[in-house]
Amino acid sequence: MTIMNEKDPLGVYAHIPYCASKCPYCSFNSAAVIAVPEVRYTNCILNELDCYLEKDGIGGRGLESIYIGGGTPSLFSPPAIGRMVDGIKTRFVPSPDIETTLEVNPDSVDALRFEGYLAAGVTRVSIGAQSFDDAVLKTLGRRHPASKAVSAVKDAKAAGFENVGVDLIFGVPGQGMASWKAALTVAVELRPQHISVYGLTMEEDTPFYSLYGKSRDRAAVEEREAQMYETALGVLKGAGYLHYEISNFALPGFMSRGNRRYWLGGDYIGLGAGAHSFFSSQGGQYPPKWGLRRWNTADAVSYMESIEAKGVATDGSESPTETEARTEAALLGLRMLDTGIDAEAFKARFGVYPSAAFHNIEAFEKEGLLLLRGEDVLLTHKGALISNEILYRF
Ligand code: SF4
Repeated sequence: MTIMNEKDPLGVYAHIPYCASKCPYCSFNSAAVIAVPEVRYTNCILNELDCYLEKDGIGGRGLESIYIGGGTPSLFSPPAIGRMVDGIKTRFVPSPDIETTLEVNPDSVDALRFEGYLAAGVTRVSIGAQSFDDAVLKTLGRRHPASKAVSAVKDAKAAGFENVGVDLIFGVPGQGMASWKAALTVAVELRPQHISVYGLTMEEDTPFYSLYGKSRDRAAVEEREAQMYETALGVLKGAGYLHYEISNFALPGFMSRGNRRYWLGGDYIGLGAGAHSFFSSQGGQYPPKWGLRRWNTADAVSYMESIEAKGVATDGSESPTETEARTEAALLGLRMLDTGIDAEAFKARFGVYPSAAFHNIEAFEKEGLLLLRGEDVLLTHKGALISNEILYRF
């Protein structure tokens, strides 16, 4: 059985669901452990991939990107990460300039470890600094001080990484505008190739929600976050970073290829606990016409036991309807601020241009929230500032 055109390259996402402790705001699939079972877990990742190769017939396809996220993947030693990266690459045809990203927590790295990851085949590190303000880091329950976040970026560069990303969070309780501006300033002075800024979300299943979520004034928080987001746009664009996705900024040539694949609706295989895979509709027979999404069981122990017993740990799958597939393609496209919804690609897939598929585009355009470039549809600056609302209304 062939999932789609064997020549089409894909991406691999591997999820490592372990952390040294659980941050109180975090709703990611991760759990605190004392020691990571890196050998057993890495075996499972590769065994799961072998099973997919056989079942889905995807061996021999090109491989554009590997993204190892978490959790805290940097709790895995460089040899374990190297075995995972090599094992994934040898099962496909990797492009010569394959991008291999490792998410890194400043708490679990030093200069030597970065050298090890570089030697292990990692080409890009995404450092979860979150803030450069000790008070904010303390509120977030992070284990590292601001100085460690700074040294992590410097160590990564000194080790030889030429593609370094930094993640920052805004909208943290007690975080003033001065703190946020200072964090942005430190970030641009460190000059990483990529900076991501995320508004803090409070999911109901987190201690943060119990602490702050119920009592907060939603309208005031949204207004504050909009100001912080606009400040980020000003500082980062002013420092030469391209705003290519709602939350992501990059120096020219350093957009995240792994994430772009996801946003542009490309195929990717998700390996590990709770990981999602997506296969688009090309090829016609299988997966179903409008794509296939499947996901693994979230619990790490259940995942490993399932892989060891039967090679897969699938917890569910779904195929969108045509309407769902169109809407998802449009929403993902709108997130890409530089390209927007690629009208020709959209038409090739769905038979119509976006303007014919979504009748509210004209109204958004009149409000100055969307812009038509030919038939491509893009968020305007004003639209990007209230992107959540637009994506919701879309
Ligand atoms: S380190 Fe990251 S993944 Fe782990 S608990 Fe904290 S926010 Fe969540």
